[in-house]
Amino acid sequence: MNLYSANSTPELQKLGGTLLPRLMSNQAALFVDSRLFSRVKPIYLQRDMLGLNDEQKRVVERYYTQFVRGGAALEGEDRARFKSNLDQLAQLAVQFNQNLLSETNRYLLLIADAEELAGLPEDVVAAAAATATARGKDGQWAFTLQTPSRVPFLTYARNRSLRETLFKAYIARGNNGNNADNNAIIRETVRLRAENAQLLGHATFAHFTLTENMAKTPDNVGDLLMKLWIPALDNAKRERDALQQVADAEGDTLQIAAWDWWYYSEKLRQQRYAIDESALKAYFPMPAVRAGAFDVANRLWGLSFSPRKDIPVYHPDVEVFEVRTADGNHLGLLYTDYYVRDSKRPGAWASPYRLQSALDGPSTPIIVNVCNFARPNGETPSLLSFDEVTTLFHEFGHALHGLMSNVTYPSVGGTQVPRDFVEFPSQVMENWAAQREVLQRFARHYQTGEAISSEWLDKLDAAARFNQGFAATEYLAAALLDMRYHTLSEPGDLDPQAFEKNTLRELGLIDEIAPRYTSTNFGHVFGGGYASGYYAYIWAEVLDADGFDAFRQTGLFDQATATKLRDEIFSRGGSVDPMTAYRRFRGGEPSVDALLEKRGLKPMIDDSGEAPDVRGNETQ
Ligand SMILES: [Zn+2]
Repeated sequence: MNLYSANSTPELQKLGGTLLPRLMSNQAALFVDSRLFSRVKPIYLQRDMLGLNDEQKRVVERYYTQFVRGGAALEGEDRARFKSNLDQLAQLAVQFNQNLLSETNRYLLLIADAEELAGLPEDVVAAAAATATARGKDGQWAFTLQTPSRVPFLTYARNRSLRETLFKAYIARGNNGNNADNNAIIRETVRLRAENAQLLGHATFAHFTLTENMAKTPDNVGDLLMKLWIPALDNAKRERDALQQVADAEGDTLQIAAWDWWYYSEKLRQQRYAIDESALKAYFPMPAVRAGAFDVANRLWGLSFSPRKDIPVYHPDVEVFEVRTADGNHLGLLYTDYYVRDSKRPGAWASPYRLQSALDGPSTPIIVNVCNFARPNGETPSLLSFDEVTTLFHEFGHALHGLMSNVTYPSVGGTQVPRDFVEFPSQVMENWAAQREVLQRFARHYQTGEAISSEWLDKLDAAARFNQGFAATEYLAAALLDMRYHTLSEPGDLDPQAFEKNTLRELGLIDEIAPRYTSTNFGHVFGGGYASGYYAYIWAEVLDADGFDAFRQTGLFDQATATKLRDEIFSRGGSVDPMTAYRRFRGGEPSVDALLEKRGLKPMIDDSGEAPDVRGNETQ
């Protein structure tokens, strides 16, 4: 499964198309099995009388709930229908992803005329030439829909109509009326999910999903999202007006459109903060950033990371590190697989090859971090944008959640926690990547070796609040779209395009911003496990802002706070109710205030354009 995502081949894709639905269907069959359920139920009913410890009790409760939610308590016709719906849903998800991958890979923006490259930095042009060569178009330049190719083009290309072409191609993935169109898949998926939720006695699919999450109800989620939506949108409108002024001042006679946002916001960023992203990247060669992340884990918990070149890997890009505790004990293995390639799906994620457990003797974790950073090019190492630096720390946080896991039962090991809790350990790690003291240790120019200057750090600080109305708005629009689909009690014969359009109009989204994912390319929700769960990133931001505050109060590397974070959160996996675990770490429930404060989302917002920093890194 991990290789299918990270190092696929046409053969694996084909095999996946056949095997994945069968694997999912097999998993589903397990939790609808009434004979197994009849063995689980009596244990569940007697759980308080069996002398179980807390972890054992939680494992019993989780299994019981999983069976009920899997349909094991259903009978007769309901049961058959539920089961057949699940089978169909599994096939639809696989098909959705395959369509999305093929729509992403088949597109190529081919440029033969060097004039059309105006504005693009040298490294972007060189990468485009390499892409063209790899596709048999030597002497031309090629851009793809993958982020490391698409975003630099949108950011720097002077040619507006080509920006429009590339932007529209990206948004249109899965909505081209061809054999990879995802609209019918969405319609069917939404209908089947609602039906199954109702068979289990829930009003909608969102109600069904959220009872198992920390958020508990669609209302709680809706409240939080709308609390953020209004100030975010206000900021986005101000940002749009500022971009229009930049365009006007440049003498460009146009009205800002969605494909102009990256281009003019980069100009504005340079005017206001003089941050040249491609010059900044020189301070973030991948190996140094990774070493920086290792260093943070070392200072917090005494962990050490040493390369293991003797362990076989599935691709030459992959590196293996042995992780040891402060006492020198073997903790687990971390694989890093950071570079973009066609055989990898887009995004960034962490996955276990083996979960930590101690049921049949100690079993140590093996975790992989997968990203899509630019490949090294000749003498030039892979240079990361600051966003990508944050992504590396984020996925490293998921890896640590898996590596520091210390439970008995594998079903509650590491990242086996509710969706809206799983992003807390990853997002809290992002905070260290943004600290001056940390950056000064690892951010060094890849050619001169010189450390990042305090002038750069000032600019980074200021820029952290730049364009955040846009970032929050595009994220929240996608999260709200997800919630609207899944709070439909009778979706009927839904037309995804009309539904999306109406929802966004009703929310008041401006034309200059598209949701981070539109329906037909919203893989988290229609091809993955984030259905009515995309909100989880901002929910986790509430936790991470509140949680990191503990270190602000006691010190960035305060040992007592770090120990508590490890013992109550990172080592517990899913063996403790997340809210309980959080209270034990922090001494109280998380407050939204820390997030509102940190992201400048207090209802009264000043004109500096402060707004939240919301990012949508994927995890598994
Ligand atoms: Zn994540």
